[in-house]
Amino acid sequence: MVLALVEHEAGVPEDSSLEMLTLARGVAEETDEPLTAVVVGAEAAGVADDLGTYGVETVYVVDHERLDDYAPVAWATSVDQLAADLDPDAVVAPGSTRGHEVLAHVAARREQSMAANCIEVTTGEEYELTRQRWGGTLLEEARLGGDTKLLTAAAHEVSAEPADSPTEPAVESFDPSLDEEAFEVRVTRHEASDVEGVPLGEARVVVGGGRGVGGPDGYDQLEELADLLGGAVGASRAAVNEGWRPHDDQVGQTGAKISPKLYVACGISGAVQHMVGCKGAENILAINTDPEAAIIQKARWAVVGDLHEVVPELNESIRSA
Ligand code: FAD
Repeated sequence: MVLALVEHEAGVPEDSSLEMLTLARGVAEETDEPLTAVVVGAEAAGVADDLGTYGVETVYVVDHERLDDYAPVAWATSVDQLAADLDPDAVVAPGSTRGHEVLAHVAARREQSMAANCIEVTTGEEYELTRQRWGGTLLEEARLGGDTKLLTAAAHEVSAEPADSPTEPAVESFDPSLDEEAFEVRVTRHEASDVEGVPLGEARVVVGGGRGVGGPDGYDQLEELADLLGGAVGASRAAVNEGWRPHDDQVGQTGAKISPKLYVACGISGAVQHMVGCKGAENILAINTDPEAAIIQKARWAVVGDLHEVVPELNESIRSA
């Protein structure tokens, strides 16, 4: 059996979990084993129908009154106890913050390795894996041992493909044994960020501003450009660290991954950690005073100049077009 940890929002599976299920199904098919899912949290039972589309045969719903909100140790204990009962060949989780955290806890409890961010898996006594390192800028060939292999699927690398033969999964309830310590770290409050306009991850045009913008007011021109092009504003970590933009705007390894048709990078040097977040952009237009800036090499078009002059001119010419 392959046991897959599925994350969901109010009973709707997360995209990264559907991608992970596609990878996990490949592992299950290769080993001729059934694909089983475990879901945790409020409304978890609602995901079962969606999971049948991805070939899941049984869904275990972790049934515990205090697990509606995320608590990493409690989640990991539940997954570990279920895995101890079911003895799967592999436990697979999505390459999300939670997926990595939960599986790392499971691995630590079992004193064994886990492989994060896998994009290809060949099964055997040891699994042969291709996995991402350094935010996806490096691919590594690795081998993974252990009686139960523990791995996460890299987010947005395997496309979510429904199974050729959908299933009608059986739904089972699993009641973990959890003590108070399991809830020492837990989510206690949800706060929605008030994102206006087009969400960064879905925008077809993103206008990004870095340290070169010089301060929060400098973003007014970038906002205007984004509005004129029907896009969203992003930022580098340097700008976010300065407090010029909220963290939700950050593009990069520790921020949003964007895949617009056009990324206009203004006053951004093009550090590798930033490029990891915008490598999905079809086209990059860089505006930078430094002709040697790394972003210029990676851009399709570049304007070497001061963004405080170039962006207003761009806005003016779009407005009068
Ligand atoms: P700088 O590197 O200082 O570049 C500023 C650029 O603006 C320069 O190229 C300069 O020539 C240009 N400029 C200056 N004035 C003007 C002007 N008037 N007009 C036009 N151009 C001008 N960074 C991210 O962005 N996202 C991440 O998710 C991220 N994650 C990280 C994770 C780790 C573990 C680490 C170690 C770093 C991470 N970083 C991340 C930071 C990253 O390494 C860089 O430090 C950061 O991206 C630099 O931001 P910047 O390009 O805005 O600033």
